[in-house]
Amino acid sequence: MPRCGKRWHVLDPSSLQCRYGVTDDGTRRRSSRLRVFSRSHRERRIVAMRATCPCCGKEREFMYRGPIYCREDIPHVCPWCIHSGEAQRTWDASFNDAHSIPKNVPKQTIDTVCNRTPGFESWQTNQWLFSETDAMVFVGEIDGAILLAEADDAKISACRKALDEWHFPDDFDFAEVTRGGQPAVYLFRDRQSGEYSAYADMT
Ligand SMILES: [Zn+2]
Repeated sequence: MPRCGKRWHVLDPSSLQCRYGVTDDGTRRRSSRLRVFSRSHRERRIVAMRATCPCCGKEREFMYRGPIYCREDIPHVCPWCIHSGEAQRTWDASFNDAHSIPKNVPKQTIDTVCNRTPGFESWQTNQWLFSETDAMVFVGEIDGAILLAEADDAKISACRKALDEWHFPDDFDFAEVTRGGQPAVYLFRDRQSGEYSAYADMT
C-alpha cells in the first residue's frame, strides 16, 4: 500500500496537524484540520470500494460507509466530500452527534466533529465526547479482551465508569465486551491532558 495517493492518512498522532494523503488531481494535499481520530478507527469506516460518489459524482476507490445522518438514504459517500464539507452542504448531513457540549468549545470544532469528520457506528445515534474546551480524540470501540490484555489502568477505569452509568455490577467481566456487542463501549482521549473518557451504549 503506497504511503499516499490511495488512502486516507493520519500521519501525526500527537499534534493538531492532520495530513490527509488524499489526492484528487495527483497533488498531495496537506491541511491543518483538527485531528480527532485514531488511524485504526478511520480505516474501519473508510473501505476500499470502487464506486461513484453520490455527492461529487466522481469515481473513487474508497468510500466511507459509516453513519450518515440526513433525510435521504445515502449508503456511502467519498471521504473527500466529508472532509471538504460538500456532503454536509449537499444533504444537510452530519456524521457524528454531540450534546452537552461545554460552552468553551469553539463552534468551529463542533462543526468539524459533527459535519466534516467520519462517524462511528453505535447502537443509538453516536455521541462525541468533549473536554471543557475541545473535542476529544475518538480512540475506538472497546474490545474487552484486548483492553484487559493491555492492562492500561486509565483506559479500564474510564470504561468501568461508563458501565457504572448503566448500573453494571462492579465485577462485570470486561471480556464480555465485544465490538458491536452489548454493551458497546466507546473510548475517547482528551488531547490536552491525555485522560480517557468513555460511554457505553446498548439497544
Ligand atoms: Zn465525493
